[in-house]
Amino acid sequence: MDYQALADLLFPDVTETPEEVEARFPKRNLPEGAVVTRMAPSPTGFVHLGNLVQGMISERMAHQTGGVLFLRVEDTDAKREVPGAVEVLIDTLKYYGIFFDEGATMDGDNGDYGPYRQRQRAAIYHVFAKKLVAEGKAYPCFCTEEELSALREQQEANKETTGYYGKYAIWRDRSLEDIQAQLTAGNPWVLRFRSEGSIENQFKFDDLVKGKLTITENNVDHVLLKSDGIPTYHFAHAVDDELMRTTHVVRGDEWLPSLPFHIQLFKALGFKLPKYVHIGPLMKMDGNSKRKLSKRKDPELALTYYKAEGFPIQAMREYMMTVLNSNFEDWRRANPDADINSFKFSPKKLNPAGALFDYAKLVDVSKNVISRMSAQQVYELLTEWAAEFDPEFAEKLKADPEYAVKILAIGRGGKKPRKDIATWKDAKPYMGFFYDSYLADPVFDEKFDKAVITDVLTRFLEQFDIADDANTWFDKVKGITNDIGFTTDMKAYKADPTAFPGTVADVSTFIRLAVTGQTNSPDLYTVMQILGKDRTVERIQKAIAQLG
Ligand code: GLU
Repeated sequence: MDYQALADLLFPDVTETPEEVEARFPKRNLPEGAVVTRMAPSPTGFVHLGNLVQGMISERMAHQTGGVLFLRVEDTDAKREVPGAVEVLIDTLKYYGIFFDEGATMDGDNGDYGPYRQRQRAAIYHVFAKKLVAEGKAYPCFCTEEELSALREQQEANKETTGYYGKYAIWRDRSLEDIQAQLTAGNPWVLRFRSEGSIENQFKFDDLVKGKLTITENNVDHVLLKSDGIPTYHFAHAVDDELMRTTHVVRGDEWLPSLPFHIQLFKALGFKLPKYVHIGPLMKMDGNSKRKLSKRKDPELALTYYKAEGFPIQAMREYMMTVLNSNFEDWRRANPDADINSFKFSPKKLNPAGALFDYAKLVDVSKNVISRMSAQQVYELLTEWAAEFDPEFAEKLKADPEYAVKILAIGRGGKKPRKDIATWKDAKPYMGFFYDSYLADPVFDEKFDKAVITDVLTRFLEQFDIADDANTWFDKVKGITNDIGFTTDMKAYKADPTAFPGTVADVSTFIRLAVTGQTNSPDLYTVMQILGKDRTVERIQKAIAQLG
């Protein structure tokens, strides 16, 4: 067979040589050890936690080595494409702090190694397809869908491995004349790889996450170009990652079964194989067993979920890093205020079986992250979230920023900051009572006589002075407690609760309920200082009136 003649027949328009194409994308001028990696999503419109995991891993690997992270859009499967999906992806990753140095952007391409959208690279793939044909490493196959299904059925009936290989690869060694006849008849064809591999052979391979793998050679003549001339994932992966000078391929381990073919393909094309980082799926506990997070069953897989719930991105990143690298938590304890990017991420520490996602732990991490923020920062992030998800609350926050910041400053800044807010959704239940329209009517414990509660509130009002310091204020509360025959001696009360009608804690609760509408609140003295004299008095008066 004259392979060059076949190549010219199949690709008459291709005039550029592989060497010329290679020369257009010179080696990147980067420091030793710099990682060049990419995210290569198919634009299906669903952005999930897995994308964030992959994004964070890729971003860290590239940027902590002085390398490059780029975005390549794998839009070869037009059927699955959702309009606007690329924009949603770019936007979401940006929201989570993952920026690309080059690649597809909102307004076209940015960088010297493009185009970064695969459908725009058809001519490039054809140059390498032609080279493979000219070297006898690829050939056209004219099998119809029906023929391929019949083949599969026959193989299944014979209990053989299904696929286009060995004696089943019926177009593998056909004559130039046969091929020419099909082309002349205008029959569609795909380009197939001529595999020289054998399933009898195995070899060792090192994956950065999975470790040492024993790989069986591929013997299937996989499709390189589909009948519309658009490459399959496999061929595009080889050509693109060669020409874009990718050093590390970070991708889901669902691609592991294709790895033998990829290794073979890189070799056939004369390309240097990149390093592979195959990441396991995100898992969760379901009862006592682990399972993959599923798009259908788990709303928490979608990244939009966390935004709506009100997890700050800092918390998401912090939590994901906790999950990805087991030494991150220790590092964080030792460096509570350090930028997360100064942690040295290592792909070798990823769990080969996939990371376990734990919602309760995320909530915990988020509480910590928010407790370390300044009141001003909390105010800004909360207001931004509320503007989208609770506009009425946002209006209240914006109406008096100084007031809101004062509220949010309660219990912040010390060694043991308050941890009332895990998500922005928690903010309103926590601080809403500071706004009159969110103030609930107090519901007092019925075991106390209304007259006693009224008495406490009246006495408090009589003595109340907004200028008091915290000690004086509390001394007054204790004074009232003793005056009405309740006790301030909690030890004595605990020893014999029947000896007293109530305690200083009950007295405080009456006042707290009157002022905040709830039995739980931040420090009551501080609450009153922020509310100010008039609002405090007004609320207590209202409670007295309600008690009748
Ligand atoms: N388009 C592939 C996917 O979405 C990319 C895999 C890769 O990163 O190579 O799974």
